[in-house]
Amino acid sequence: MKRKKWMLLLLFALSLSACRGQERAELSSDAASAESAASESAGGSVGSEETESGVLSNGAKLITVGETQAAAETLSSKIEFQNVDETVYVTGSNINIRKSPGKGGALQGTAQKGQSFRRTGYSKEWSRILVDGKESYIASRYLSAKQSESSASAADAAGSAGQAAQSLSFDPSWPLAANSKIHSGSALLYKADASVSNGKTICVNAGHGTKGGSDVRTLCHPDGTAKVTGGSTSAGSTTATAVSYGTTLKDGTTEAKANLTAALLLRDKLLAAGFNVLMIREGDDIQLDNIARTCLANQYANVHIAIHYDSTDSDKGAFFMSVPEVGTYRRMEPVASHWQEHNALGKAVIGGIRQAGGKIFGAGNMNMDLTQTSYSTIPSIDLEIGDRASDHSPAVQGKLMDGVVLGLKQYFGL
Ligand SMILES: [Zn+2]
Repeated sequence: MKRKKWMLLLLFALSLSACRGQERAELSSDAASAESAASESAGGSVGSEETESGVLSNGAKLITVGETQAAAETLSSKIEFQNVDETVYVTGSNINIRKSPGKGGALQGTAQKGQSFRRTGYSKEWSRILVDGKESYIASRYLSAKQSESSASAADAAGSAGQAAQSLSFDPSWPLAANSKIHSGSALLYKADASVSNGKTICVNAGHGTKGGSDVRTLCHPDGTAKVTGGSTSAGSTTATAVSYGTTLKDGTTEAKANLTAALLLRDKLLAAGFNVLMIREGDDIQLDNIARTCLANQYANVHIAIHYDSTDSDKGAFFMSVPEVGTYRRMEPVASHWQEHNALGKAVIGGIRQAGGKIFGAGNMNMDLTQTSYSTIPSIDLEIGDRASDHSPAVQGKLMDGVVLGLKQYFGL
């Protein structure tokens, strides 16, 4: 009898300590994610709504996280939203959009100054907004029911059409989307002014620019088969980096940065020419891997153009990555149904660049088996606009992007 009691006591003590251990493990993993959020926030790439408390000192980390969590739990259970139905505008940069109200709510993406949303619920701290038809939450103090002059001019700066962009998040239930591993970021959709709109939407994908993207691997082909050509991932591989870092140009500029300046130029030129534009990224870090980027383009755009600089040093000129002449690859879906469109789009764009006076490499194409092409269900190209030795000044990039617009107009018969 005595022994049994002892055993029970012992069991009780053991289960208590097991619980404690688990609690501590959860807490410290939360601390780790808070730490990375804080360091990203310091880099200016992840959103803010907790500007003051977001930067945690090392010593205070655990306590702060615990408090934040508790506050978040209290908030989401007690929060009462006043039902509203209005358009609101974002007044800050990189503002977090969360799946539930409170600083502990899972991150869904970030919103940019001047962006507009439908607000369906208001409380002093948090607002319920619709992102892609889904209820999401954003700190009320970064929203204004009026488009202020400063946010209007920010929207002007962001898009020459003067319209705020719509934030579009990734949905893992889309076709082929289950293979994506990084997809918490959102793309931005700009609509061309109605007076010039041609109704076509171009996805402009500034290559690279995903923090941590090279530490994660995704399937090269949706069916798990191996890559048929080399490249940054060698032939025969079944997985590739989710988003590689990219090269560095000879003057020290990262390829990701040069791709972005070209993409921003292209965005404005496309909007002026009447195209809608789906921008995959407008900052140094977007948490969207190559598969997520491609699925967003598949969903919301008519064509997909990724912008890159090649890693050679010969200033060889622009070209696109064409679909390799390998039977097994060309018979694999969705490549089988779309490879001719990809190549036709590439030819048109290179033709436009040539007309605009841009330098072209060889015949203007190179066969390459890419994740982008392997998952694209719309005409889609990786466009290399130069290499490490190329001049990437605004003048040269502007000329190249004029060529891309020209090529797209010809592709659509506009
Ligand atoms: Zn690249």
